[in-house]
Amino acid sequence: MYNFSAGPAMLPAPVLKKVQSELLNWNNQGVSVMEMSHRDAVYVQMTETAEQDVRDLMAIPDNYAVLFMHGGGRGQFSAVPQNIASADATVDYLNTGIWSEFAIREAKKYTAHVNVLDVMTEQDGLKQVREQAAWSLSENAAYVHYCPNETVDGIAIHDIPKVSAPLVADMSSVILSEPLDVSKFGVIYAGAQKNIGPSGLALVIIRKDLLETQQNTVCTVMNYKVQAAEHSMYNTPNTFAWYLAGEVFKWIKAEGGVEAMASLNTRKSELLYECVDNSSFYRNTIHPKNRSKMNVPFQLENPELDSLFLQQAKAEGLLALKGHRFVGGMRASMYNAMPYEGAKALVDFMTRFAKENT
Ligand SMILES: *Cc1c(COP(=O)(O)O)cnc(C)c1O
Repeated sequence: MYNFSAGPAMLPAPVLKKVQSELLNWNNQGVSVMEMSHRDAVYVQMTETAEQDVRDLMAIPDNYAVLFMHGGGRGQFSAVPQNIASADATVDYLNTGIWSEFAIREAKKYTAHVNVLDVMTEQDGLKQVREQAAWSLSENAAYVHYCPNETVDGIAIHDIPKVSAPLVADMSSVILSEPLDVSKFGVIYAGAQKNIGPSGLALVIIRKDLLETQQNTVCTVMNYKVQAAEHSMYNTPNTFAWYLAGEVFKWIKAEGGVEAMASLNTRKSELLYECVDNSSFYRNTIHPKNRSKMNVPFQLENPELDSLFLQQAKAEGLLALKGHRFVGGMRASMYNAMPYEGAKALVDFMTRFAKENT
């Protein structure tokens, strides 16, 4: 089976097998990892290793804190404005798709001036992000927020915007998929269920000077400064998700780190885009410069064949290809855990399906 789910997404098989083998007796503790105190020295050591591994993988500088928080990606939509802007601040939000819009909606609850930058445009039927020179950034923004990989729309911004305000990025669906210069960001956050581990957990990487800016009213569980001081254990963390994330970090390291992930992800996505572009049976309407390597949406020219496509794909073990209900068509999500053979199997099926139904 190859699971193309957008999220919660497939996890690396070796990680799941290891977790299964130690489920009843973790680390010779005689209990599962879910059944012991998060303050236990053995558990604390695991969390320290997980943090160090993600620091190594992403080359996170020492002046950044790494937090393992509750509430997934969307929890951060409200945590960000409350923690790093005052209630009367101006904040800039790029709008590139559905996840940007949800983040904008939430920010409006906490900050007075949310400057929405409508940066999407369409040329020759291809959606693309306007060049940065055409964005109307505020002079005095407390931060600039953007979503480098729009999971639903399949739109990516591959170059890091150059802004003077702290840059905040929702990397839920792209984190750890390629090398990244963390020093260019004020805050990076990601819901875990695409490239890290189980849902509910959020990874937050924040420049330490920004820990001093929170609104007094921010709920304590979502307070970056408190969570940094408490090593993400102000209240009981999601102990199982944190442990599993740590196992995924170890797996990425063993596979060759984010450089190896990047080359794998490029090969998989190129194979699929090439198949779509070379056929009059399928189409993708996003300009190549803004195409996502993680989430590839595509449509059948004849949507009446959609359900047959999905049914036959499933019968061949190609799962969860139905596009998001807002977009329709198909979407193949191929995060780090998807092997090249999965992309190959999908493309082989698509080529055959097109031939048989033309
Ligand atoms: C999945 C996703 C989210 C939502 O994450 P939840 O954990 O469900 O809150 C937010 N942003 C992006 C870009 C996502 O892909």
